[in-house]
Amino acid sequence: MRKPRKAGGGSQRHGEQPSPDAGPGTPSQVSPYHLFGDADEVTRFRASLLSWYDQAKRDLPWRRRAAGELDLDRRAYSVWVSEIMLQQTQVATVIGYYTRWMQKWPTLQDLAGASLEEVNQLWAGLGYYSRGRRLQEGARKVVEELGGHVPRTANMLQKLLPGVGRYTAGAIASIAFGQVTGVVDGNVTRVLCRVRAIGADPRSPSVTQHLWSLAQQLVDPARPGDFNQAAMELGATVCTPRGPLCPKCPVRGFCQAQKRVEKVQAAVSRRLLGSPEQEKTLEVEECAPRRAGSCPLCLPPSEPWRQDLGVVNFPRQPARKAPREQRVAVCVLQQPGPETSRFLLVQRPSSGLLASLWEFPSVPAEGTESVQRRALVKALQTWVRGPLPLRSLRCLGEVVHVFSHIRQTYVVYSLALEEQPQGLLPSGARWVSRAEFQAAAVSTAMKKVLQLFEGQPSGHRKASSKSPQDPATSGPGPGPGRQCRQLTLGAFFKPTSAP
Ligand code: SF4
Ligand code: ZN
Repeated sequence: MRKPRKAGGGSQRHGEQPSPDAGPGTPSQVSPYHLFGDADEVTRFRASLLSWYDQAKRDLPWRRRAAGELDLDRRAYSVWVSEIMLQQTQVATVIGYYTRWMQKWPTLQDLAGASLEEVNQLWAGLGYYSRGRRLQEGARKVVEELGGHVPRTANMLQKLLPGVGRYTAGAIASIAFGQVTGVVDGNVTRVLCRVRAIGADPRSPSVTQHLWSLAQQLVDPARPGDFNQAAMELGATVCTPRGPLCPKCPVRGFCQAQKRVEKVQAAVSRRLLGSPEQEKTLEVEECAPRRAGSCPLCLPPSEPWRQDLGVVNFPRQPARKAPREQRVAVCVLQQPGPETSRFLLVQRPSSGLLASLWEFPSVPAEGTESVQRRALVKALQTWVRGPLPLRSLRCLGEVVHVFSHIRQTYVVYSLALEEQPQGLLPSGARWVSRAEFQAAAVSTAMKKVLQLFEGQPSGHRKASSKSPQDPATSGPGPGPGRQCRQLTLGAFFKPTSAP
């Protein structure tokens, strides 16, 4: 019933594609080389892809659920949840989250009645947390404003539901409602760029427009949902980013990239046999505008064909912007009690990165370590009444976590209270046990911080006799300071890309 995808491992989706602007590559200007020329070719392409899909599709929980659901709104909901979860996330990761989600909220009405805290809790570790929030906002809108009915067309889905862009709208409409509308995600982009030898930047407006146009031309009117899923499945499992399995590909006979590889190989063989004239003939490009340097879809002249890459020359990989570097000082504040330690968590603001999630108290890690310590202590004192045993504030090391656009380094400190804290915590803060922490709406980065903390020699620490007189303003002293640097150099945790 549906697919997965991504531009790296074959099973996650990119975010929504941008709406194409009118670009230089409008269909009428495009060389036939990048088009499907006749109806017969389109029919054969559909048949090859669908017949393969019927045999090879993966058994995934959202496919099973959608296939067995007769109620259109329930079916749309089951597709919608899977599509949102699969954006930027691998299928293998999504399966568990999807299963737990549907057990907890089997209907739109159930989800509409959930709290944001519950949603964040279930979403914890999946990353891109605004997806869960928007899903729930969408469910509420359907229940409270649309009479419990999910909009039935891609246009209306995109228009009315928060977090539903062009791709997701098309996927829900075709899979759940059978609307004949094509979709383009990262997997489809890769497949189409190879099948029609499109080497220009797939994110450019002209290429985006062309890909949507191709997808609309190709989608099977009798089985639109299956066709869209088949195209995505092909990209996820056969036409993968770096290791495409061309000999097993059901649409190999339609693939211009594959034909080009075969021609280059034939030319190389002829050269080895000493027939340079024939080689010249074989280098003639089928895309005529390319020779004039005017094709907006071909590989740019500055990026010639690389024989070692073969079909992977398509699509061209746009340069990625390096993530922004950011440093945060974070403190694991621990209540006394060797067996039943509790940690202080505070809630993040309701907007921005990791909105409304819980975390250990933190401050921007600016300036020297002394400055960081001062700032951290000041922040802690806004949450916990009474004196803090500042001599125990220790730097444990660093944890690096890569979000989509930020490479965040957490400088991890710990502080163990010597007495039970007095009074109530302000709102937005709470003490949690280890088990409660694991079940809470916390990010993967915070779990890494806890792992680093628990990797320390002892759970509950006492002040070192060598600690400086004013740990809040001085350096860490011989113990903690060295420990901090040792752990950093030891690459305690490797950066990962999932938030
Ligand atoms: Fe992709 Fe190879 Fe199939 Fe072409 S033949 S669509 S490059 S797997
Ligand atoms: Zn071209």
